[in-house]
Amino acid sequence: MTVTATRIPMLVDNYSWLLRDQATGKLAIVDPAAAEPAIAAVEAAGGKLDHIFLTHHHPDHIDGVPALAARYHPLVVGHAADSHRLPKLDIAVREGDLVDFGAAQARVIAVPGHTLGHIAYYIADGGILLPGDTLFSLGCGRLFEGTAEDMFTSLQKFAALPDETLVCCGHEYTQSNARFALSVDPQNEALRARAAAVDGLRAAGQATIPVTLASERACNPFLRAPDAASLGRLRAAKDVF
Ligand code: ZN
Ligand code: FE
Repeated sequence: MTVTATRIPMLVDNYSWLLRDQATGKLAIVDPAAAEPAIAAVEAAGGKLDHIFLTHHHPDHIDGVPALAARYHPLVVGHAADSHRLPKLDIAVREGDLVDFGAAQARVIAVPGHTLGHIAYYIADGGILLPGDTLFSLGCGRLFEGTAEDMFTSLQKFAALPDETLVCCGHEYTQSNARFALSVDPQNEALRARAAAVDGLRAAGQATIPVTLASERACNPFLRAPDAASLGRLRAAKDVF
């Protein structure tokens, strides 16, 4: 028995995720940018929502919470340090905490950089990583609050996770990220193959997420950056790309 993650497209390029614990049938929503698509997904999956997992406070990750909370009374999980700017939390978590979700557990990983209070969740039973806006396919989040050092340290925390881990990130940014990645790492054969596959998927109107951590390790220039200074230079270059 394991946990599965299903993509729920929202707004322009946001992905929320429906988690289902196969052992117990419990459902969770991750980062609901909007209520309507999340409600539709929950109803299609059985009509009971047990948890909402939040990665950070940006509106495109939390605006669906009030309507979902009023309708389903789920346990809302988020970073204790950001409780002042997140919706009302039922479970306030910190680095290293394990949150029970059905028969499985989600491990909290503090990943400052995009925001200072940003957290990721890793569910070993199912191999699911929910990095929010920290790690994207072929990119990483903008540094709105943290430094390049913060982001480098945060991305390093994903290094110990297994290759087959599914990266279930918060946005479909892969195609534009690929253009930048190719500009800084043009000879990377794995990256070239991934970029071509991404172009094919997008041309067919399909998603490029989830992606394995193994693929990102081979292709993503931000995960491959050898130190914080290199990551900082990449991030600065991408912001004007
Ligand atoms: Zn964000
Ligand atoms: Fe976002």
